[in-house]
Amino acid sequence: MVEKLGKAMRREIMGTTLIKNAKRIYTFDEKCRVFDTAYIIVKGNVIKEIGTGIPPPDNYNEVIDASNYVVIPGLINTHHHFFQNLTRSVPKVQKCNLLEWLLHLYRIWRYIDEETVYYGSLVSMAELLLTGCTTTLDLGYLYPTGAGDLLGAEVRAAEEIGMRVHLIRGSMPVMEGHLAEILRNEYGIDTDALIEDKDAILSQCEQAFQKYHDPNELSMCQIGVGPTSTVYDDANFMRELKAVADQYDGIAHVHLHPRPDEIKICKKLHNRTPVEYLNDIGWLDNKTIIAHATRFTKEDIAIVSECNTGITHSPSCHMRLGYPVAPIPTMLKSGIRVGIGVDGGASNDSGDMLAELRLTMLVHRIQGIHGNLSPEEWLGPKEVFRLATTGGSSLLGRNDIGCLATGKAADIAMFDLNQIGYAGGLHDPLGALVYCHDRHPAAYVMVNGEILVSEGKLVRIKEKEICHKANLLATKLVSRLKNE
Ligand SMILES: [Zn+2]
Repeated sequence: MVEKLGKAMRREIMGTTLIKNAKRIYTFDEKCRVFDTAYIIVKGNVIKEIGTGIPPPDNYNEVIDASNYVVIPGLINTHHHFFQNLTRSVPKVQKCNLLEWLLHLYRIWRYIDEETVYYGSLVSMAELLLTGCTTTLDLGYLYPTGAGDLLGAEVRAAEEIGMRVHLIRGSMPVMEGHLAEILRNEYGIDTDALIEDKDAILSQCEQAFQKYHDPNELSMCQIGVGPTSTVYDDANFMRELKAVADQYDGIAHVHLHPRPDEIKICKKLHNRTPVEYLNDIGWLDNKTIIAHATRFTKEDIAIVSECNTGITHSPSCHMRLGYPVAPIPTMLKSGIRVGIGVDGGASNDSGDMLAELRLTMLVHRIQGIHGNLSPEEWLGPKEVFRLATTGGSSLLGRNDIGCLATGKAADIAMFDLNQIGYAGGLHDPLGALVYCHDRHPAAYVMVNGEILVSEGKLVRIKEKEICHKANLLATKLVSRLKNE
């Protein structure tokens, strides 16, 4: 039984595909090689050869003429919440800070079920694929009592669309701030149905690994664990949860953008910053990924660097919810491994991967944001693409994705530069992808050797049908709040 379901997501691709005449290929391999007028041969699930000029003749099953295309490794998204995608742009929370945003959204999210999570997952992954992303992490942390098998719904959606996934079986053992009290007293909501029992979390996480985790090379589905917020008053629970992840060599993942009151509570209980606390209880190592990393002290940054813990950066979310922006250039200088995540549909509210790269490139340049960085310290196209390719694979602990090289997974994204949005901007094709154009549709996207986006269209699922169904479910879900 162990690992069977995760492995079932693998599809043995039998044939060969030739991508020929590529205008430019950026490999992001160890030497960061770049090829012009080049080709890639894909055999089965992996890259067989990359070269320039005329490719060797063969009976290729599929040939893509990439004359106008810039070819890059499939991008890796390291933070998301699929279930939130049916609550994008909800008017009530368009201008709220984190706690108020959560308060109103918990009132809606308590009604999520297998169907909403399934369609939320399909929408999330479809949007990522269409913008060149081939692997995504998802932190599903809400499991309302009686909602059904929500992790199973995510796995089914990933199987259907064909994307490579790292699904974090998240949890909510405590609710942020005084939200539970407010939801109970002011809205009459049974918060016990939203907050999971700690023993149940531990056993569900263990089962998730046993059922879905495929740790092998070219794996299409891996499992991780983590609470949505750090639990400060039960270090044992945090340790036990991390032990479950360690037992399976899986990822542990947690949000950490501690509010001033949260920093105070941690100080009072442990005389530590939240980062020092996580370090003390054994959470900070190379298998842990922290989302956001705002309000870190210099010492916190040094600890995270020392522990080789990964950080996932979501600038859209920081701006959307009015957080401080994490000092990513400083963290990179300290040797911290960083990836980029679009974050959940309710706090971005877009899953456009290239848009998140563009914002990562630009936001840290704003004067005053990190004490005025000089232009030499700014992030450029190469740096942000590195974060979303080899940066992402490093965070996920994988060697088989994140670059284009012989023997690596055939996860490839191609963008057509012959569009008005790029016209006049081809002096640096990689730069054009993030400096130019306000839409980022990929022409072709391949995952594990299989073409999932062809001529800008999803291959395995019907986009319009998914939109229609998702909108129906989203309307139903949000209208429950209006009817209260
Ligand atoms: Zn998040």
